[in-house]
Amino acid sequence: MTALELLRRLVELESPTADHERLSHIGLFISAELESLGGRVEFRGRHLMARFGDGGAPLVLAAHMDTVWPAGTLMQMPFRVDGGYAHGPGVLDMKAGIVTAIEAVRRAGSPAGPVCVLVTADEEIGSPTGRPVVEGLAREARAVLVLEPPVRDGTITTSRSGLARYQLQIRGRAAHAGNGWRAGVSAIEELAHQVAAVHALADDAAGVRTNVGQVGGGTGDNVVAAEAWARIDARAWTADAQARLEAAIYGLEPLLDGSVIEVSGAVTRPPMTQSADGATLAARTIQIAADLGIELSENASPGGSDGNFAAAVGTPVIDGLGPTGAGAHAVDERVSLESLEERTSLVTALVERL
Ligand SMILES: [Zn+2]
Repeated sequence: MTALELLRRLVELESPTADHERLSHIGLFISAELESLGGRVEFRGRHLMARFGDGGAPLVLAAHMDTVWPAGTLMQMPFRVDGGYAHGPGVLDMKAGIVTAIEAVRRAGSPAGPVCVLVTADEEIGSPTGRPVVEGLAREARAVLVLEPPVRDGTITTSRSGLARYQLQIRGRAAHAGNGWRAGVSAIEELAHQVAAVHALADDAAGVRTNVGQVGGGTGDNVVAAEAWARIDARAWTADAQARLEAAIYGLEPLLDGSVIEVSGAVTRPPMTQSADGATLAARTIQIAADLGIELSENASPGGSDGNFAAAVGTPVIDGLGPTGAGAHAVDERVSLESLEERTSLVTALVERL
């Protein structure tokens, strides 16, 4: 099977995160591929790892098999190749990354040491069950290479924002919008103040981004709203900034007399900050790429990945090693076939030399 054929097979095995049956199908397909290369496959729930070679700490190649696309998307977005790009649901994020890992293991002549391919199954919802699997494997690894797409072509991702999710629940007091108006306390008015306050916490220099992504509240046009809620996405470059941001959100005070704010939620991914070992690994990666005639530079991503969990246990991580493309999570999702080939050569060389 060529790399392109493998990519087609993976895209055509749809794998939305919540769909356990489809995830088990694609998991079995991937494990058969890895076993055919001599890998010793082990499932941890729906997550799988395949070990190659033994003796010493493995180099981990990390990918995820789940996508954001619901089953049936293939009907509208079938796999197709056009103008040097392969199109289809999940083709970039990150079935092409799985192909890169499998092909690198297939092509590597003599690996520098043991290798473990890790393919998790719930990355797109924040890795609630994948997290301990990633952390456990990262602890024993000599390095973790994450095959997510790069932020830009010609880059690797060496730091990532930390992510958090918070919810605001606001209680006011219901009243008739006409004759009872003064007796009421509008939870929606309070919500409006709080949305502005949350957005004002953003700080570009610290990489702090806050977004109230969903709101709701009220029961009728002629009722002063007794309840309202908001959901917040919050990002920061460092653990300190993340902690300050969390304190600010938990410290939100109501502006209206008689309204009450309840905050819930927490950090979902710690920031991926570069350690000294991480910097050394990045420099070696850039040198190995240069030896292949590939120019690479380091980049920071405001998005999260399983690389955040791997880096947080102290293991050096390079992320964004997968092929480039465009339209992740969008209907024009596509991956560059030239980049797929280039990144496969690069990861093959990393397996042989790191
Ligand atoms: Zn991804």
